[in-house]
Amino acid sequence: MVVGDVTTGTDVLIIGAGPAGYVAAIRAGQLDLDVTLVEKDAYGGTCLNHGCIPSKALITATDVAHEARHAEEMGIHADPAVDLAKMIDWKDGIVDQLTSGVEKLCKANQVNLIEGKATFEGERTARISHSGEGQGSESIEFQHAVVATGSRPIAIPGFDYGDEPVLDSTQALALESVPDSLVVVGAGYIGMELASVFAKLGTDVTVIEMLDGILPGYDDDLARPVKSRATDLGIDFHFGYTASEWEQADDGIRVVAEPAEQPAADGGQAVPEEALELDTETVLVAVGREPVSDTLDLDAVGLEPDDRGFIETDSQARTAVDHVFAVGDVAGEPMLAHKGSMEGKVAAEVIAGEPAAIDYQAMPAAIFTDPEIGTVGMTESEAEEAGFDTLVGEFPFRASGRALTVGESDGVVKIVADADEGYVLGAQIVGPEASELIAELGVAIELGGTVEDVAATVHTHPTLSEAVMEAAENALGHAIHTLNR
Ligand SMILES: Cc1cc2nc3c(=O)[nH]c(=O)nc-3n(C[C@H](O)[C@H](O)[C@H](O)COP(=O)(O)OP(=O)(O)OC[C@H]3O[C@@H](n4cnc5c(N)ncnc54)[C@H](O)[C@@H]3O)c2cc1C
Repeated sequence: MVVGDVTTGTDVLIIGAGPAGYVAAIRAGQLDLDVTLVEKDAYGGTCLNHGCIPSKALITATDVAHEARHAEEMGIHADPAVDLAKMIDWKDGIVDQLTSGVEKLCKANQVNLIEGKATFEGERTARISHSGEGQGSESIEFQHAVVATGSRPIAIPGFDYGDEPVLDSTQALALESVPDSLVVVGAGYIGMELASVFAKLGTDVTVIEMLDGILPGYDDDLARPVKSRATDLGIDFHFGYTASEWEQADDGIRVVAEPAEQPAADGGQAVPEEALELDTETVLVAVGREPVSDTLDLDAVGLEPDDRGFIETDSQARTAVDHVFAVGDVAGEPMLAHKGSMEGKVAAEVIAGEPAAIDYQAMPAAIFTDPEIGTVGMTESEAEEAGFDTLVGEFPFRASGRALTVGESDGVVKIVADADEGYVLGAQIVGPEASELIAELGVAIELGGTVEDVAATVHTHPTLSEAVMEAAENALGHAIHTLNR
């Protein structure tokens, strides 16, 4: 069908159907607002199609194979064959199920869905271009707009994602055969999660990182067990290098990396002097993501992104233009799906006239490396910088009966509390199911709970969550299954 140049109207126009935009749309629908959601690519955005869900599916599947292969101690001898094409089919099935679920939920909440690319034309008008030759465009007038256009992988000089051996995370998650070797540029969470996936599939993985350690921004106590497990998996690391170019080699390609101009000074890692040359089959560039704000003609609505491309918002997700909101990755760090969904709900509620506001105090984050990392609230040093006298409790998983029975006893639960009143200020967990365990401590922060509250809550035995209770008891000096500090 050729769509002519018609103009329609909507109360709330939401641009982008990722976890920020579609959640805003459903919430707006629940609040009886007349809402239109425009998506140019696929419902569910990066998260459902190319990010959280596909990566976690592959992490789980490769863990199954890896664990089966390494269960001799439990008396299990197995050598599972991995059919990556079938694994990718399974992952794609999950993605399809979830993305069609998003579409159905939107429709059930009276969200008007439009497939196309939106750009602003004026303060209250946007143009939606439909893809495909002769598909034309339409104009839409809105009372409120919510920008939820997300982010894209950052490209680096010398590595063009259009070149066949150069992969971004989306392409790496769709490979149908296991590469013999892979160079991963960037040891952030996406690089480290995918490095583990391919190492467990038998790929020879090498990671190049500009700084002097993995998972920049995370405490060394959390990163160390992950690095150590990665090394056990056979992953090689080169810190203090910047990948500069790739060239064809006899058998595959050669990735060249130069010593980074400013390698981190405080990690004790010697500053490399020589360039590095790594022969590999393929290279994955995972150096971070940047907001998608340059394709929207933002100036037509009176907005200008900051110098990193983010759209600044206040605690109600409102931009500098009163009737325009921004949520999710395009609205700033942390670029996480649940942060975007929370902002999306707030934007919808504010538009509906409800007294909603964003609160980042209990914002969790999880990294699905091996072992996992889960964090929420403040670290010990952040709490001290904020002026708190801190009370800290820790419990190592090696003292947890359940951790031993699941064969995953590396790691620790750490709880940071305010020494005066005992309020939980933050927590960091590295170890089995850290991504799930951290939720309890998020609830504690949200409810204004204390370490006494967490310690006095009876936890089911034998579970990993007992480690959370014992860390709280340790803060109070009476943990039972570890020596108290
Ligand atoms: C490999 C990987 C793993 C990840 N793992 C996790 C994880 O485990 N946990 C977590 O919390 N986060 C994870 N993330 C990050 C997470 O995917 C993002 O934080 C999240 O998707 C951001 O949601 P969003 O709605 O802001 O944007 P997106 O999900 O990027 O969605 C934006 C949507 O807007 C559409 N769009 C853009 N411009 C226009 C336009 N002009 N018109 C119409 N539509 C437009 C895009 O097509 C897209 O569908 C991961 C990301 C990657 C890449």
